Formats: sequence, structure tokens, C-alpha cells
Amino acid sequence: VLLLASCLAKNSSEKVVVLTVATDDNHGLQRFLRSAKVYNIDVEVLGMGRKWTGGNMDFPGGGMKVNLLKEKLTTLDMKEDTIVLFTDSYDVMYLSELPEIVKRFKSFPETRFCSRPSSTAGRTPRSPPSYLSELLEIVQLKAVEDSDDDQLFYTGVYLDPATRDSFKINLDHDAQIFQNLNGVLSDIQLNTNTTEEWPFINNTVTKQRPLLVHGNGPAKLTLNQLGNYLAHSWSPTNGCELCKEKKLEIKEEDLPTVLLSVFIEQPTPFLEEFLQQLLDLSYPQEKLHLFLRNNEPYHEELVDKFFKEHSDKYISAKRVKPSDFLNEAEARKLATERCLNTACEFIFSIDSVARVDKNTLRYLVTSGYDVIAPKIMRPGLAWSNFWGAVNSAGFYARSTDYMDIAYNVIKGIWNVPFITNVYLVKSSVLRKYSGKVTYSRPEVDPDMAFCQSLREAGIFMHVSNEFQFGHLVNPESYDVTKTHPDVYQVIDNKEEWEARYLHPDYAMNFEDNRTHLQPCPDVYWFPLMSQRFCVEWIAIMEAYGKWSAGDNKDDRLPGGYEAVPTRDIHMSQVGLERQWLHILKEYVRPLQEMVFIGYYHNPPVSVMNFVVRYRPDEQPSLRPHHDASTYTINLALNTPHVDYEGGGCKFLRYDCSVRDTRQGWLLMHPGRVTHYHEGLQVTNGTRYIMISFVDP
Ligand code: UDP
Repeated sequence: VLLLASCLAKNSSEKVVVLTVATDDNHGLQRFLRSAKVYNIDVEVLGMGRKWTGGNMDFPGGGMKVNLLKEKLTTLDMKEDTIVLFTDSYDVMYLSELPEIVKRFKSFPETRFCSRPSSTAGRTPRSPPSYLSELLEIVQLKAVEDSDDDQLFYTGVYLDPATRDSFKINLDHDAQIFQNLNGVLSDIQLNTNTTEEWPFINNTVTKQRPLLVHGNGPAKLTLNQLGNYLAHSWSPTNGCELCKEKKLEIKEEDLPTVLLSVFIEQPTPFLEEFLQQLLDLSYPQEKLHLFLRNNEPYHEELVDKFFKEHSDKYISAKRVKPSDFLNEAEARKLATERCLNTACEFIFSIDSVARVDKNTLRYLVTSGYDVIAPKIMRPGLAWSNFWGAVNSAGFYARSTDYMDIAYNVIKGIWNVPFITNVYLVKSSVLRKYSGKVTYSRPEVDPDMAFCQSLREAGIFMHVSNEFQFGHLVNPESYDVTKTHPDVYQVIDNKEEWEARYLHPDYAMNFEDNRTHLQPCPDVYWFPLMSQRFCVEWIAIMEAYGKWSAGDNKDDRLPGGYEAVPTRDIHMSQVGLERQWLHILKEYVRPLQEMVFIGYYHNPPVSVMNFVVRYRPDEQPSLRPHHDASTYTINLALNTPHVDYEGGGCKFLRYDCSVRDTRQGWLLMHPGRVTHYHEGLQVTNGTRYIMISFVDP
């Protein structure tokens, strides 16, 4: 409900009283008061600290607001020439300074009251002794219970021709002053890229630029979104002004105590790196409690080791194992209770799919926001840990600014209706709304239940894209029935995969003026894969175990005949064909293009991709041959003089051998004509190499 009362006499002694009602100091009120401050509006809050008896605002109610206004009006000097501006607070923002509001108000002919609870209008002249007293008269027309509907009350006054005409009540149909959002969202345009310094809204139907906005009823979430921009919160040139205002400076010794609430709910690629990231957080461990929940038996061994090695570094540590049979909602409730019982000031909730920079927690704590997530995304996808909007069923909806925030076209901290995977929550908020905030609701996931309950309690959630905080790993193709399933993640989780499995010197291959090693003519030698890659690659083959017989019959080949047979396992047999071809394209091809200049073939084609096993008692060597390839790569998976004796590759035309191959290093040579070659005898141990015949 929005109401203005005024004297028609335009004298200079005119006073404006700005009033609102708020029984609770919540995020909605803080936003409202900030907008008042931005526009130099001195507003008086009625009812603060009182028990709200205006009913559940999801239903008609709010009579308490009428009664509080009545109470206030009786204290004002009725003889004074006064304009009253009265609005809700939790879902209202001022968009203009008071003189402009008053000016517009006065431009309504002969208006004294101006309201738009629904959609009705009218006016008649009457000359009252005091205009303020008229407003008092109106609110006193009939007794209102606190739980009665305030809108119904004012609508009744308005619909009665007697009161409407005598009090000259007018409705602001066109939103010249007041823009109620509910039901007209498609009429409202947010203007951010204009010549004006600050974004504003206009009504595209009435062509007005409203001076106040009210996110009444279900339009509250839209107001939350608009509020990110309005009242000088953000602009393309100033950036996020609101973020700057809220930022806190906290001395090292004053950093708050945080419960690190870790959730491993599903098989997660690169979990070791996730656990390491917890240790690497740039936050004093003596300010951290640990709550470590793992619900995935596959990870339990690793998690157990982590907990045993590190739990004593935290103020306190609690774990929940798969064998505890707690569901996620129960576990999250337990974590919340633990924070509330240990006097921690924040919960930093982080799921195993979230990978964040070490400064993230510190950043969030000093952001000044009560509920805030760092924006992270699945690389290459529009999938993130926030939603810009929710649909009427409570599920994901794309907001107009989702992509801009997701891809950092605009930067700041954004009030959004849903966050997940990694976020900070101030415990005082949880304490204050303890009965209301929940992770458990029928038919929805715990994170949806949580955000739904925050929304209903009027607690604002935010996502920040002020910085690059990290990313989400993608668990979708992660198959823990495989041996070393992380090796298979080269396509879906590139960043982690590269860090763990590429050779630490791989990038050096591309340094300017680098001389590439050439142990034999046109045989190039590059560091490609890490030691760990090689060890795990071998383990995958040995776990599979079905090495070929080493004879000429090979059913894996189209013709069933192998001219130069080895004891081997093809990548297609262990489900690594797609991954290996990706490795060829992404990591091998660029090397090839550097040394065999002018040969470009992208993607490289290869049907023969296999690990060969040489053993004295099995197949110790391979007779001279050409490969069916344009170029061949030969990756050493283990180390001479450590894992085996002998071995190597001899190029007969040049009488040149490479014997001291290096684990993770790749030999690359032309396949035919010049590079007739043989596999040298292994005299002891087992030698493994990974071979591809590229572009046959
Ligand atoms: N209000 C209050 N305390 C409450 C609930 C409501 O002070 O516990 C006031 C506050 O000014 C709020 C207004 O009543 O903005 C109307 O409530 P709400 O915004 O939920 O209702 P709507 O605008 O959707 O009718």
C-alpha cells in the first residue's frame, strides 16, 4: 500500500513526513532504508521491534500497518501543512528524491490521496480545514483489526463514492509515482546502458518513469533482481556501488570463526585436489571448525586418511561417514546445529564439485553480505552455482541478466533466488530464523529446500562475480567402476586433468626458440605425460589384463590380420579410445605441427592406439617394420634400469637407437619409408609403451 496525503495550498512552509512500517530489521528493510539514504529521504519506521500481528503476508492481512499509521498521525500537528508519504518497506525502493515525488504528486489535479492498491480512480473537490486531519479521518473511518486486510480497507474507502469524492482520492494509474510490479512485469523495462549515470526503470506502456517501486506479492523476486541495479546500486561506469559500501575491513586477528562444512555427496572427479584445496584455504585454521560429510563409499578411504591426518588442526572436527546412513538434509541440519552450538560466526558450505581459489573464504567473509556465494561454472558450459530466477513451480528459470552475470559481462554482487555448491552464511541469520530455514522439504533437493526457505523468510542470497573464484568440476561422466576413473576425465574436467596428468614440463615445449630434442634424425622427443599418468595408465591395462596373443590373427582389426603383432591392449578395449584421440588432438598435434612443419591434419586420425608390453618371457622385442601411419608416437610408460633392462627403439636407416627412454616422454617419427625401425630386446622386467599410428 502506498499513500500520499497533501494540502493543495502550495506554500513554502509545507512539510513532508515519510513513514513506513517494519517490525523487523531484515534485508528488505535494509534495502529500503538504503534507497532512502541514496535519495536523501528521511524516513520514520513505525512498529520496529513490535510483534507482527498483521497476519501471514502470503494471505490478505496487514491491518496492523493502518493502525500504526493511525497511531502516528495522531501525534502530528494537525494544523501544519503536511504531506505524508506512507509505504511498505520490505519490498519497496525509492527511486527518486523527495522534491521530485512531491512535484509529481502535486501535478495530479486536486489530488489529496493517491494510492494504488488495486486499480480504481477518481476525485471530487472538497475544502477541508486541515488536510492531514483528513488522512487521519480516513484511517479512522472504521475500526481495523491488525489482521484485517489493509488493501481491502483502503479499497473500500476508495470504492465508496462518498468517501472517494469527498476526500478527493486519486489512483496513480499510470505509475507516475508508484510502480507496483505484480502483474505488470512485462511492462517494466530496466535501463542500464543509457547516457544517464545510473540505471532506472520505466513503464513501457504508460511511458512513465516511476519514482518508487513496490515488489508486491509474488513480484518480490523481481524486485530483488531490479534492486541489484536501482538506487545507485550498480552501473556500467561505477560498477557495484553497493558492494563497495558493504565491504568490511577485518584485521587478521579479528577474522571470524567459521565452520567449514564439507559435503561429498556423489562420486567426484579429482577429490584429492578438492581435499587439498581445503587445506590450502588462506584462512587461519585456528579460526576454523571442520564438518566433513562423505556419503560416497568409493571416496571413504581417501576421506578417512584426510580426516585422520588433518582433523586436529581445526578448533573442532566432526565427520559423517557413508555408514552413518544420514541423508543429505539431515547431515546439513547437523552441520548447521554444530555451527550454532560452537559459537561460530559463519558456515562456509562447500561441496566436492566446487573448486575455489584459496582467497575465496576470506573474500566472502569481508564482503559484508550475510548469504553469499562465489560464482563458479562448469568450464565451457552455462551451468553455474546460481540461478537468476525461479519459475512458479520453484525450479530454474533464466533471468534476463543470467548470461551477463555468468560470463562476467557485468560484475558485482547480485541478489539471486538460488545458490548452491559453495556459499557463506552468517550464523546470526540462521539463529534468527532458526525455525524457518530448512534443508528438508518434500519432493525437492536439500539445496532447493534451503533456498526456498530463505526466500520465504525474506533472507537475501547473493552471488558474486567480482573475481574469478574457480569452477565446478563436472561429475556426470565419472565412472568409479573403472580403474583410475580420473584418467578418463580429460574431456569433461580438463583443468584438473591437465594439472594432474600432463607432464610438468609440457608447457616448456612451446617456449620461444626452444630446440626440440632429436635423439635420431627426424625422431623428436617431448615431455608429454606426468609420472602419475603413466603409472595409472599401466594399472588400467593390467587391471583389464586381456593382452593380445602376439600372433598375426587379431580380431580387433578390420581384416583380422596384424602384420607386425605385439602383446597389446587397444584403447577401445578399456573405454579410452575417445579420451586418447582427444589427447592426440589437444596435446600431441600441436607438438607435431611445430616440428613437421606444413603438415596440418586436425583432428589427427588414428585407429591403432594401444599399450605394448615387452617381457623377456613373453614378447621381448619386435622385428624391423614400417608403421601404417604418417607419423607414429611412442610414449614411454616406465623407466629403463628401474622397471626393466634393455629395450628401446632402433631406426635402421640411421643406425640410431633411443635406449634411455624417459617415462612420460614421447618419441614422434614418420611411419614409413625413412623410419624403418625395430623394438629392441627387453632382457629383464617389463617395459610398457603407448603407441599410436597417426593418420594412416
Ligand atoms: N511488515 C512488517 N512485519 C512483518 C510483515 C510485514 O513490518 O512481519 C510490513 C512491511 O512494511 C512489509 C509490509 O508489511 O513491507 C507488507 O508485507 P509484504 O511486503 O510481505 O506484503 P505485500 O507487499 O506482498 O502485500
